[in-house]
Amino acid sequence: MQDSECQSAEALLQQGNHSAAALRLEALLPQAQGGPERARVLNDLARAYARLGRPQDCVRVASEAVHLLERQEALGPLCEARCNLSLAYSLLSLGREALEQALSALNLARRLQDPEREGWALARLGNAYAALDNPAQARETTQLAREIALQHGLPELDFACLNNQAFFTLYEYEELVIDGETEQAVVVQAMAQLLSEQAVACAQAQGNPYRIALALSNLVEALLQGQDWDRAAPLIEYLDQTAQEHEFAGLAISTRLHRAVLARGRGQHAEAIAAAESLLQLRGDAILPRLQRRALRLLYECHKTAGAHEAALADLEALMRAERLAIRTVQLAQTEVLLIRQEVDQAMARAEHARADAERERERVLALEREHEALREQLARSDRAAREDVLTRLANRRHAEQALPLMWEQTPSPDTPFAVAMLDIDHFKRVNDQFGHAVGDAVLRELAQLLRQRLRSADLLARWGGEEFLIGLVGPPARDAEAVLERLRSAVMEHPWERVHGGLRLTISIGLALRGVGNGAPAEEPRELVQAADIALYQAKHAGRNRLRLA
Ligand code: GH3
Ligand code: MG
Ligand code: MG
Repeated sequence: MQDSECQSAEALLQQGNHSAAALRLEALLPQAQGGPERARVLNDLARAYARLGRPQDCVRVASEAVHLLERQEALGPLCEARCNLSLAYSLLSLGREALEQALSALNLARRLQDPEREGWALARLGNAYAALDNPAQARETTQLAREIALQHGLPELDFACLNNQAFFTLYEYEELVIDGETEQAVVVQAMAQLLSEQAVACAQAQGNPYRIALALSNLVEALLQGQDWDRAAPLIEYLDQTAQEHEFAGLAISTRLHRAVLARGRGQHAEAIAAAESLLQLRGDAILPRLQRRALRLLYECHKTAGAHEAALADLEALMRAERLAIRTVQLAQTEVLLIRQEVDQAMARAEHARADAERERERVLALEREHEALREQLARSDRAAREDVLTRLANRRHAEQALPLMWEQTPSPDTPFAVAMLDIDHFKRVNDQFGHAVGDAVLRELAQLLRQRLRSADLLARWGGEEFLIGLVGPPARDAEAVLERLRSAVMEHPWERVHGGLRLTISIGLALRGVGNGAPAEEPRELVQAADIALYQAKHAGRNRLRLA
C-alpha cells in the first residue's frame, strides 16, 4: 500500500470530505495487511465514520485498531484509536463505555507526556460526560482540553473544543426550555452564542470550509434561540449556499430546520410548516433523528398556535412515535455494538491464537533444525578429530591404519602395484633445539603442505608419528613410486626453509616398500609393507640420511 494514498485520504478528512475519504480508505483496507499500516487506515476510517453518523461502523474499525495497536504496543496511535472508539460510544449514548475508553486514552497520553493527545482525550472525555447527561461536567472537561489547545497552539483541537462546548450548551438550553427553567435558559443561550461565535472565528482563522459551516450552523441555532431573527436570516442563506457548494449533506438538511424555526419566529406559520414538512419528507436515514424530532415539535407548535388541533394532535403522536423509535434505535445500536465488540474480540483472539500456533510451530522447526545442525557439526568434528592430526591437518595414524587395509582390499590382484613409504625428518631434534619448538611446529605444518601439494588426492598421506609421515600409493602411481618419492626428497631439500626461520635447512630420509613392482616384496597384508618401509627408513638414516632406501 502506498503511503501517499493514505495521505491523500487523510487530506480529504482534513477538508471535511468524509464520505470521499471513507470510500478511499475502505478501498485501501483490504490491501493493508501489515500491522502499523492497517491500524493507520482503521484509525482514519474511524474518524470518517464518526463524522458520517455511522457510529456502529466506527466501533467496528476502532475496536480492531485498538486490538492491533495493543499488540504492537504503539501507544500513540493506540491513544487515538481509543479516542475514536470513545467518540463512537458517545454518539451511541453508551456513556459508560465512552468514559472508559476516554479515560484509558487519557492515561496513555499522560504516560507519553504528549499534550496534543492529552487534549484530544480530554475532549473525548467531555463527549462521554455529555453522553452521560452531565453537560456541566462535559463543558468543564472540554475547557481543560481547550486550555491545552491554547497553551500548545493546537488550532484543530481548539476548534473541536469550542464547537463541542457550543453544542453542549445548545443542548442544555433545549432541556432547560422543556423543563421551564427560563431564567437559566437565557444565561445558557448567551453562552451558546458566545461559544459559537468563537468557534466561527477559530474556523475562519484556519480557513477550513467544513469547520466554518459547522460552527455557523451552531451560531444560527444560538441566534434562533435568542430570537435574533435579523442576524440569523442572512447566515442561514450563507450556510445553505456553502453546504450546497461543498456538498455538506448533513448541514444542508439542518438549514431547512433553521428556516422553519426562523419563519415561525417571524410569525410566518405557513412557511414554517412548509419548511418543516419538507424536512420530514426526506428519506429516513438522510435525516438525523434529532433533527426529525425537532421538526415534529416545531410542526406541533405551529399547528397548535394556528388552532389546528387535529393536526397538532397528529404531530404529537408522530413525535412520540419518533421518540420511542429513537430510544429503540439507540438500544438496538447499543446491542449491535456490543455484538460487534464481541465479534471483533473473538476474531482478534482467533487471529492471535493462530499467530501464536504458527510461531510455536516455526520455533519448533527452527529448534529442530538447529539441533540437527549442531549434531551434524559435532559428528563431523568428532569424526575429523578422530581421523585428523590437529597440527598439520593431515590424516592421523589411526586413519592411515584403517585406510591402508581398505586400499589394499580394493586392489584387483596381488600384482597391482602398491607402495608404502615412510618419511622421517633428519635431525629434527636439532631444529627444535636450535630454533625452538614453535619453529619445529611450523616446519611440520610447512612440510605437510609441501607433501599435500605434490601428491594426488587419491594417495594416502598421513602423519604417522612426531616427525614421521606415511605415504600410500596404489596402481600406476605406485609403479613410479621411487621416482615420485625421489622428487619429494629433492623438493624438501630445495625448499626455502629460511622463510620459516633464518638459517634453517631441512632434509628427509625415506624408506620405500613395494608390492607388484619388479622384484618387490610379496606381502600378505599392508602391515608388512609398513614394517618393511620402516626398516628401509632406518637403513636410509644409517647410510647418512637425506636419501631413499628401497626395502
Ligand atoms: P633422525 O634424523 O635420526 O630422525 O633424528 P631426529 O632428531 O629427527 O630423531 P628423533 O626421533 O631422535 O627426534 C625426533 C624429534 O621430533 C623429537 C621430538 O621432540 C620432535 N617432535 C616430535 N613431535 C613433534 C611436534 O609435534 N612438534 C615439534 N616441534 N617437535 C616434535
Ligand atoms: Mg627424525
Ligand atoms: Mg623419528
